Amino acid sequence: MTAVPFPQTLRQFQLLFATDDACHEYLSRCRWPEGYKCPRCGNPRAYALGNLGRWKCVACSHQTSLTSGTILHNTKTPLTLWFWAAYLMTTDKRGVSALLLQRQLGIRCYETAWMMLHKLRRAMVNLAREPLHGDVEIDETWVGGTQAGLRGSRQLKGRKAALVVVAVEKRGKASGRIRMEVIPDFTKKTMNSFIQRNVTPGSIIYTDGLKSFDGLVEAGFKHVPRIQPLRIDLRKGAPSAVPLADRAIGNLQAWLVGTHHGVSRRHLQVYLDEFVFRHNRRKKPMAAFQTLLGLGSVCKPTSYAAISRAAAEVG
Ligand SMILES: [Zn+2]
Repeated sequence: MTAVPFPQTLRQFQLLFATDDACHEYLSRCRWPEGYKCPRCGNPRAYALGNLGRWKCVACSHQTSLTSGTILHNTKTPLTLWFWAAYLMTTDKRGVSALLLQRQLGIRCYETAWMMLHKLRRAMVNLAREPLHGDVEIDETWVGGTQAGLRGSRQLKGRKAALVVVAVEKRGKASGRIRMEVIPDFTKKTMNSFIQRNVTPGSIIYTDGLKSFDGLVEAGFKHVPRIQPLRIDLRKGAPSAVPLADRAIGNLQAWLVGTHHGVSRRHLQVYLDEFVFRHNRRKKPMAAFQTLLGLGSVCKPTSYAAISRAAAEVG
């Protein structure tokens, strides 16, 4: 897609994207790898308009912005900061909290850092994504609320726990791609709907316990329920019925508490999306970085109102 190599270290990153000009240059190389072309008439010649990144076609006068259709459009925040945030989000397994971002980038106001992270998170939801397939483990967990092992102020007082369903592709002993979703309850209807939206028919679904998933078979799935050993036996090393799902849930819980000190139920789905995004692209940081900046696919910019609305629907 572009001749720019993906930086392997923070130092390389700083050198490559030291200025807003360098970021603009990168965006235009990603967007027009063969050089600028008018999106309306295809003419390759245009005037640069005042600000960097705006072009006017010499043939049809159509105006194009380098950032239109991406989360960077009309931003008042320097591109260098956006690039830095997207890089940290895709390469640091722990992700970034708004407070950390604010401190690391020297952003004056916490809300700006928070808003940047949330816009980047919204770019992580890829609606056209491929459903999971093959052997798939499904499990559910409670997130938030009273958590074992946390004391005092780290305990999420008064926060309602949320029910989360997790699906993990089994690739031998390793995990393939995952999906996570906040669900209202653990009814058959809810579970079946999640599975049908996220897993290809013909796949084999593994669950613990003796949950009934009637309806799955009619929808073309095979269901393999396994009895989960007692917790005490699990601690002694008995193999879990759904080991990969258990591991994904453990990593999720550790990340939510470690990086974000817990997340309110209202915003939980976007954090799940971030976790899933990074997990599924852990071997393709370059593609992840470009996706976040809205390159390659056009994602609509999201307003604060829309983010809050979406969050409220979840909560
Ligand atoms: Zn044109």
